[in-house]
Amino acid sequence: MTAELLHDPETEGPPRTPVDGVNVLGSLSPSRASDFMSCPLLYRFRVIDQIPEAPDPYAARGTLVHAVLERLFDLPAGRRTLEEAAALLRPQWDELVAAEPQIAELFPDPEQLTGWLDECRSLLETYFSLEDPRCLEPAERELYVEHVLDSKLLVRGYVDRLDVNGEGLIRVVDYKTGQSPSEFFEAKALFQMKFYALTLWRSRGRIPKLLQLVYLGNGEILRYEPDEADLLATERKVNALWLAIARATETGDWRPRKSALCDWCDHKSRCPEWGGTLPPLPTPEEIAARAARDKPSAGRRADPSGASPAPGGNPPAGGSVSGGGSESPGGSASSSGSASPGGAPPLGGWALPGESSPGGTPAPGGTPSPGGTPAPGGAPSPGGSSPGGGVPAVGAPDVGEASPAGG
Ligand code: SF4
Repeated sequence: MTAELLHDPETEGPPRTPVDGVNVLGSLSPSRASDFMSCPLLYRFRVIDQIPEAPDPYAARGTLVHAVLERLFDLPAGRRTLEEAAALLRPQWDELVAAEPQIAELFPDPEQLTGWLDECRSLLETYFSLEDPRCLEPAERELYVEHVLDSKLLVRGYVDRLDVNGEGLIRVVDYKTGQSPSEFFEAKALFQMKFYALTLWRSRGRIPKLLQLVYLGNGEILRYEPDEADLLATERKVNALWLAIARATETGDWRPRKSALCDWCDHKSRCPEWGGTLPPLPTPEEIAARAARDKPSAGRRADPSGASPAPGGNPPAGGSVSGGGSESPGGSASSSGSASPGGAPPLGGWALPGESSPGGTPAPGGTPSPGGTPAPGGAPSPGGSSPGGGVPAVGAPDVGEASPAGG
């Protein structure tokens, strides 16, 4: 089976030529793996059943703000101001509606739309309090990355932004429109970034120097410096997660995991945990027909992990997933935000040419940007349980996306 023949839960994106012709077990990316680890049944509804979900203003907000931040870098550096970014909101919204007309149903009243766009603008304001895009020239934006691991699992995902500095060091940047996670859930958020780092390392041969999560909901930045041992551990966990998903696919045992996430789940009415009745699983023939019907499109992905705020302000995909300190024996994490400018450089003053270092020390020719005080070193390592009742423990991963081979 080739990657092209796989059932593909995320049909958008460029052609996947790098793996054409390679036999793979299946594909996995951070967002769907996060679903599985939070609730295997949620994964089933989204990936196996592919049941459409109602438009969500939080997800739409993430999509729109991401689109604006991507387009912003189309402008000459000197024009990358808040006003220019805000001016992109309406046209980008119109583009979203043109691509997905049902999204317009979120705001039947023009005043509602105006208020929602104001919320988006306020997220952009927070972005500009954290970074000065006039000092940045991203190497890549909305970069699709993929690689077939030795296990024959295809790992893939979209990187919001890739920066490469004068020394060739790579920084992976991801925007979140929600709030930064509590310390307990930092590992989960970082797993997504390590997943990207693993994919980039394996496909490009170089470990990214810095992983950076930019939380626009509360103006915090979470930074992490991965190392080889860290990414090898991530690879093991990704493979173990895939085995757990494959086993659930084989047995049909997609157990629900009740949690605070349920309040944000679009499938509550059909979930046995809430008195619902499970729909029958699609037959292999139905899955094959669907895979043949689906065509890649140029739509922008959503921002599920930073979209709907869970109670406490954290992303909804929290779940009780283990983060595992063993995953990051050598890496170091730090967080900073606009509330704590001028802290010590958390990661050796890594910066792009013209950009200030994270700690506030300007790089040559750069403009200081807000920095922060790093958290005590070491990756957070909340404990957790296996991805779902009856599903084998994965060994402590955090986040991901997956589709079983042929399923
Ligand atoms: S309602 Fe809760 S337990 Fe049920 S599928 Fe959704 S997240 Fe899982």
